Amino acid sequence: MNNNINKNNNKNSNNKKNNDDQNKNKWKFNLIYVGIVLVILLIFNNVRESMYTEKIRYDEFLALLNSNKIEEVKISSDRLVITPKEGSEYGNKTLYTAYIGDEKLVDRLDAADVKYSGPDANNSFILEILLAYAVPLLIFFFLGRIMFGRMGKKMGGGGVMSFGKNTAKLYAESETGITFKDVAGQEEAKESLREIVDFLHDPKRYTDIGAKLPKGALLVGPPGTGKTLLAKAVAGEAHVPFFSLSGSDFVEMFVGMGAARVRDLFKQAEEKSPCIVFIDEIDAIGKSRDNAISSNDEREQTLNQLLSEMDGFDATKAVVILGATNRPEVLDKALLRPGRFDRRVIVDRPDLKGREDILKVHSKGVKMDNSVDLGAIARATPGAVGADLANMINEAALRAVREGRKMVVQEDLEESVEVILAGKEKKDRIMSPKEKRTVAFHEVGHALVAALLKNTDPVHKITIVPRTMGSLGYTMQLPEEDKYLVSKEEMLDQITVMFGGRAAEEVEFNSISTGASNDIERATQAARNMVTIYGMSEEFDMMALESVSNRYLDGRPVRNCSDETSAKIDEVTLNIIKGCHKKAIDLLEENRVLLNEISERLLEKETLLGEEFMSMVREYHKRGSLELAFDESTSEANKEE
Ligand code: ADP
Ligand code: MG
Ligand code: ZN
Repeated sequence: MNNNINKNNNKNSNNKKNNDDQNKNKWKFNLIYVGIVLVILLIFNNVRESMYTEKIRYDEFLALLNSNKIEEVKISSDRLVITPKEGSEYGNKTLYTAYIGDEKLVDRLDAADVKYSGPDANNSFILEILLAYAVPLLIFFFLGRIMFGRMGKKMGGGGVMSFGKNTAKLYAESETGITFKDVAGQEEAKESLREIVDFLHDPKRYTDIGAKLPKGALLVGPPGTGKTLLAKAVAGEAHVPFFSLSGSDFVEMFVGMGAARVRDLFKQAEEKSPCIVFIDEIDAIGKSRDNAISSNDEREQTLNQLLSEMDGFDATKAVVILGATNRPEVLDKALLRPGRFDRRVIVDRPDLKGREDILKVHSKGVKMDNSVDLGAIARATPGAVGADLANMINEAALRAVREGRKMVVQEDLEESVEVILAGKEKKDRIMSPKEKRTVAFHEVGHALVAALLKNTDPVHKITIVPRTMGSLGYTMQLPEEDKYLVSKEEMLDQITVMFGGRAAEEVEFNSISTGASNDIERATQAARNMVTIYGMSEEFDMMALESVSNRYLDGRPVRNCSDETSAKIDEVTLNIIKGCHKKAIDLLEENRVLLNEISERLLEKETLLGEEFMSMVREYHKRGSLELAFDESTSEANKEE
């Protein structure tokens, strides 16, 4: 409760400050506006004057006087205003000339029989100024107010008078109250964010030693996986204010508004440091500038402003910028450079355990019957994200109320799974059990071939949780050390690993699926490169058959050989591919029992880490060497099937 009051106080003082700022800006804007109108009027009046009046020399005036062409002269302290008679060469313009202190002027005027008088009374002069400047000014002013005021309101802001300072959509919390405990699963993401929390918590410890922390991290993952939640949790864990703005808020009706917002946001953030600035849907402004079909100046300006603010502010200031996107591939390279969003935190769809944890977190406030088995629900929802699961719990609670129960039972949960999954589009990839099985064998195929071959990188992780970038599962291999040269054996083994997925499908199901298209593409390219670029085939020895021109543009290799040679290249490439494919199949046939074991385990757990996988492989081989004879006979039997 106390906490709450504090929060409100804080918000109020925040608002007050914003208002002060806004008022100050309003005045500034009004002054500029008045200035512009004045200049316009000045020009306008000058033009009008030059249309109706003309300046002449004194001798010209005397000549006019002598030839009796002047009707009337008004004498003031610095000029003579002359009205020529009708039909003179000046038409009906009023003429004027500087008064040069001619003592004989009056005599001359008398002699020419011209009417003359002193200056007009003062008040008429004031009236003239008033008419020429003040009245139009007032009219402009009120017109402006009405026009811009309306427009401003329509945009949901405070009118143009406050533009740039339009902070209506800036969402600021002095204390989010959300911690890592509220984010279930996502252990890897939390781990990489923990350092940022630590930095925000005690910046001095880092700055004392001279360390610069990352200014920005990019949370990447499909919608609903908890990116916003994680960003808030970072602020909550570090007990620092949380500023957030959505990328689309930046791109507004008025040009220059987005850039002004960015400036504004960073100014406020720096005042409140240490703090978190969170930019949701950053792809709305950060889209790559090179391949845009229609260039959007406004977005570009906003992006540039963001980049320069990120570079500009003091690295010791303890402002950390978190961005979130589900389309990292469209982001401008400039955003990802060191010193900007150089860290990438993957927030992927949760695996089985993650899903169960999320269900647990969200069922905390909900009364559940003892019979409820959240694990079963988690198993039934592969591919579902945090937002779906939170929704399921709520949907189940609603159903329980509808059915007049006091507690949620398993049936409610099962029913809500149906509702939510059916409501979701197919593209969200909730796999059928059969597909899941295929994917599991496919991925284990890759991993197992990698483990059984000598010249390959160790397997780091295998998963069948559908992933952001479109694959249904993946096997991740991480090299033990950085490599700059790849040997022929390594290339061949890599190609064999790429075929491991399809080979496993063939070995286990004796049927093949479309799931290997990417593997095939990559493997073919690698095999081709061996022949045409790296000189690794016997047939062509060290002949360069393709060269990569334009290395920095598209980098596509250009063929430089005859058509016959080209056909031969295809043949040689195909031989490499066939050899590797066969090798992958042979390896998996030999280890079919292991392939099955691991695949079943993966189906059950959805994600296997490298160590667990390797220990299964090692254990199998230990068993194998003890029961060598037995093992051989079973693998024979398998082949006969
Ligand atoms: P994103 O920003 O990635 O689209 P959100 O952070 O807005 O997703 O998540 C929407 C909601 O889904 C959250 O408010 C939360 O209730 C729930 N949610 C998502 N992921 C998790 C998670 N890992 N743990 C707990 N709740 C989650
Ligand atoms: Mg979000
Ligand atoms: Zn594959």
